[in-house]
Amino acid sequence: MKQFGLDIWADDNFFINNDTVNVNYGSRPSLLQITQEIRERGYKGPLLLRFPHLISKQIHTLFDTFTQAKKAFGYRGNFHAVFPLKVNQFPNFIHALIDVSRDYHYGLEAGSKAELILAISKTPPGAPITVNGFKDKEMISLCFIAAKTGHNITVTIEGLGELETIIQVDREFNSDQERSVAPKIGMRVRLHSAGTGTWAKSGGYSSKFGLTSTELLEAYEMLTQNALLDRLWMIHFHIGSQMGDIAPLKKALREAGNIYAELKKRGADSLGAINIGGGLAVEYSQHDSSMERNYSLREFANDVVYLMQEISRSKGVAEPDIFTESGRYIAASHSVLIAPVLELFSQEYHQKALRLKAENPPLIQELYDLLHTISRKNAREYLHDALDHMESLLTLFDLGYIDLEDRSNTEILVNLIVKKAISLLKNEGSDELKRLQDRIQERYLVNFSLFQSLPDFWGLAQQFPVMPLDRLDEKPSNPASIWDITCDSDGEMAFSRDLPLYLHDIDVGKEEYFLAFFLTGAYQEVLGMQHNLFTHPTECVIRFKEDGTYSIGSLIEAQNLMDVLDDLDYDTALIDKTLKQQIEESLFISKEEKEELLGKLYLYLSENSYLKTIQAISENN
Ligand SMILES: *Cc1c(COP(=O)(O)O)cnc(C)c1O
Repeated sequence: MKQFGLDIWADDNFFINNDTVNVNYGSRPSLLQITQEIRERGYKGPLLLRFPHLISKQIHTLFDTFTQAKKAFGYRGNFHAVFPLKVNQFPNFIHALIDVSRDYHYGLEAGSKAELILAISKTPPGAPITVNGFKDKEMISLCFIAAKTGHNITVTIEGLGELETIIQVDREFNSDQERSVAPKIGMRVRLHSAGTGTWAKSGGYSSKFGLTSTELLEAYEMLTQNALLDRLWMIHFHIGSQMGDIAPLKKALREAGNIYAELKKRGADSLGAINIGGGLAVEYSQHDSSMERNYSLREFANDVVYLMQEISRSKGVAEPDIFTESGRYIAASHSVLIAPVLELFSQEYHQKALRLKAENPPLIQELYDLLHTISRKNAREYLHDALDHMESLLTLFDLGYIDLEDRSNTEILVNLIVKKAISLLKNEGSDELKRLQDRIQERYLVNFSLFQSLPDFWGLAQQFPVMPLDRLDEKPSNPASIWDITCDSDGEMAFSRDLPLYLHDIDVGKEEYFLAFFLTGAYQEVLGMQHNLFTHPTECVIRFKEDGTYSIGSLIEAQNLMDVLDDLDYDTALIDKTLKQQIEESLFISKEEKEELLGKLYLYLSENSYLKTIQAISENN
């Protein structure tokens, strides 16, 4: 992996400049500089940085690429896009998204009542709103209210029951009105071509969603009988997220395109749009050998436009408007999670931790000599000797012949020898070495929660690019695994030996070292769990001005301890009272000390669960 795979996943958004990773925009500040500026204000835990210019870039690229494809094929339908709220509903994201997309009539997609309320209140006038997912009468009524207030809203029906409700609500809303106003209607089709990847079940015949051919015909009849056929406007499908291969999309386009054309020929004159859902993938990989996507946006757009044109021409119907609901593609790149490394677990295996005696057991003396004479030529042989000695020494300990200090010396010396051998034999890449490498993966304890900040790693084994913020002019030497601060052994990001992550050998007692996790902007935030009661990290928005300088704004601090407990519906006033009472009534504390402890308690309660400082550094200061 060269430069942490930046050329694979970073899309020119970040680049390495000397020893730091920098934002490729404006004055091109380093992420380290931004991080330190925020930390100087007192925010020491993990930080989530949002970059609106990257949201802007994605939206711009999406519209631009489809405009070019339309032009290249002489396509007559329009292109529209909406952002699916389920991908990221956080206000600092949504407000930035709406701000940067003004020129595009970019709309929002809602899949629940709360999201619908967000969509209705935040979508700019005229921009489309699409509503998917299961709906009850109340939700459909909200769509009618939105239509009546002038919104360009499309309700996608996922089943015939929903259509019945729409008909009922339409009667209630429009029976004595002179001018009837109703939302546009879309129909989600259940494709026989299967979905893709982890989310195969979102598309395909076993899908939770969509109408079969028989149901489509029935829906068509129901719309006709109830004078609503003129509202039927959209055919919708969604084949699942993070579509790595373009082939299933093409199949789905053919299927849905023909359904569109058939219904149109049957008499659905208002039908004029095909909504291809989401699925556009993001490249998360740091390694050439594990890339997740086999197509470009250009290929994607060309396929959609070409196939819709071909089907429309051959069936003699008008080319439909094209809608996309890509979410991951728009949101993933905009945020970066930055977390400080707190500790390296094998740091105790340092030469200076040795407790050699005047007289050591001979095998230990020999290990010591091996460490100091190992070279490229003898590395393999010395390595085998060291491992062999270790077995013998551990047996001697079990039998009571050597003491705990000897055993500690053994562990340290063997670890150092293995490390040295691996670095000397780096270019040989034998299986034996790789196995050893697994064993000596350095564990980096990092001040964040995987469950909160990267839930898809925990739940779906989704990789996220990770790299240090600085020292990038130095070759990292430690094969690493990353541990979060939850008390859960699943809170570990291990790397296979085929796709290792190398990090620097640092002394956290002396220097700060930060890891950045990229492409965390899609799905991770609202899916994040408060396991161990770690909360959403402190976040801020980095905006670049015309002159290239940046500002750090819209800071939202991680929830404090009491607010987290309050969210769980604990009586926090009672907890507060109990804590104070315990101090006040304690027989072991003097009166002055009570004052002091109460002051401290008050301060701690106002802070969040993440660790405040790197322990060793704070002790030294
Ligand atoms: C989740 C979802 C999307 C977004 O999918 P991405 O893969 O994030 O682009 C779009 N449309 C529907 C109906 C969805 O359920």
